[in-house]
Amino acid sequence: MLERPEKAVLGEVKWYLLRLALEALEEEMKVIEKVEVDTVTDVVCDVCLCSTRVENGGLEFATLSALWGYGTRHDGERYELHLCEDCFFQAVADIRKHRRIENLFNDDYDHNDNELGLMATDDYFHNGGISKP
Ligand SMILES: [Zn+2]
Repeated sequence: MLERPEKAVLGEVKWYLLRLALEALEEEMKVIEKVEVDTVTDVVCDVCLCSTRVENGGLEFATLSALWGYGTRHDGERYELHLCEDCFFQAVADIRKHRRIENLFNDDYDHNDNELGLMATDDYFHNGGISKP
């Protein structure tokens, strides 16, 4: 003979059934369609034209950008270059060399500028790392 369940058990069953009904209703309300989305799959270096994809599959590149404003010869022009790691450090070396030539006779210029542009080290998590002066 089947025993009559207690009120507490019946309450739990009701809540369970209500939750199932709500979940089913939520599923019916969702509109699911396949959509085509444009996404960046690679960034090519503007100098050597190589992919900037690294071994772990990520994209690693430097961005050199400028938006020239009023009073400049290039007023209103916007530039953006993407550089792979090798080309970035070659560009930094070229800038450093140009800087040394520009300041060849400047007694105030520090000729030990091997860290030109270096803002931080050990910044693995993009949280500031160790700041450089
Ligand atoms: Zn490159």
